[in-house]
Amino acid sequence: MTAQIDIFAAGAQRLQMTESIELTIQSLQAYGSDHDHWGIAWSGGKDSSATLTLIIWLIDTGRIKAPKTLTVFYADTRQELLPLANAASQIMDELQERGIHVEVVTAPMDKRFMVYILGRGVPPPNNNTLRWCTRQIKIDPMEAALEARLAELDGNVLMITGVRQGESAIRDKRIEMSCGKDGAECGQGWYQKVLPEAKGLKGRLSTLAPLLHWRVCHVWEWLKHWAPQAEFGDWSTAMIADAYGGDEAEEINARTGCTGCPLASEDMALDTILRVPYWAYLAPLKRIKPLWRELREPQHRLRKAGIELLKSGKVAANPQRMGPILLESRLMALERLLAIQAEINEAAQCLGRPMVDMINSEEEARIRELIAAETWPNGWDGDEPVATVPLDKVFADGTVQPLLFHEVLLEGDGACG
Ligand code: SF4
Repeated sequence: MTAQIDIFAAGAQRLQMTESIELTIQSLQAYGSDHDHWGIAWSGGKDSSATLTLIIWLIDTGRIKAPKTLTVFYADTRQELLPLANAASQIMDELQERGIHVEVVTAPMDKRFMVYILGRGVPPPNNNTLRWCTRQIKIDPMEAALEARLAELDGNVLMITGVRQGESAIRDKRIEMSCGKDGAECGQGWYQKVLPEAKGLKGRLSTLAPLLHWRVCHVWEWLKHWAPQAEFGDWSTAMIADAYGGDEAEEINARTGCTGCPLASEDMALDTILRVPYWAYLAPLKRIKPLWRELREPQHRLRKAGIELLKSGKVAANPQRMGPILLESRLMALERLLAIQAEINEAAQCLGRPMVDMINSEEEARIRELIAAETWPNGWDGDEPVATVPLDKVFADGTVQPLLFHEVLLEGDGACG
């Protein structure tokens, strides 16, 4: 949208905090007044938390005009890092004290990250082929919640997101979709790009990223030093900044995402959190990322034999692709995750610290139910071979290369005969 263009005109020079806030005010004044209703997409991460608390403060102090209605949509993926989930719940209380409507947006049970992997057997997402998670646990539920809200309102809605690109926003004049650029939050770019085009929202929803030009040090400064002060709103944001390394936040530039995100090359955010003595008891969470990696290995997965596909005359780019996770591997992973959760919560109880809620009792029951019912993703029925079983190689063009050791066996038989 052209909404952002004036901001870019400020040039690529390093912007100071107050100037950053001033540009934010200008963008909200310019585009907010055209919309009676505002929504704020809030993930609980640093960028969207800074956006949310700053906007409420600007409204409370009369720096920007309040819209007719304001709805905060908190995207609860059930995968949030505990310090962030904890901060989010305090900020939600603070919003409700101000009479602000907060809608908690969660994916339906069978689409949740853990249930989808362990119950349905879909392999954990990776960077190459299966990047299903952002849409499924963040975008689709947000779309559904917005659609429901739009049905209650007349007129258009301005959806405010925490998309932030720092100086590159000024340089590039475009919004990246990528998950971890400049330490941005996973999903935020998608909210900005995908939501306005979504069926059911099209034409009635505009998006604005009023912190697009903020550098990460400004975000930290706001969360840690400004927002917690009474004159800026008395928000519980300091723990978000601390979770991302406090004073070192700028250098660490940690990406905000799910606990044990299989797509991140390192557990940077979690590592930072674990260096804070208060959160050190969460160390067993480090075992999650290797578990996702392990579940992608062939011994835990089925594979299409390829021959059947050939017989049916169908064409596939990879006729022998690896597929879903075996039932027994899913149970193994469930037990390991529950053990991690139990270990942390035992320590939490001893220390009087917050407990983790990775897999709740309803989710555990649903996962077990789906495994017991032998549930497989679409296109799989469970009688495909395990991916470690040697098979004749079937190529996309239909040619077959028989297994080498078949030939060796035949030769061997001949020699003995
Ligand atoms: S943070 Fe990682 S696991 Fe979570 S939605 Fe984004 S890419 Fe997927």
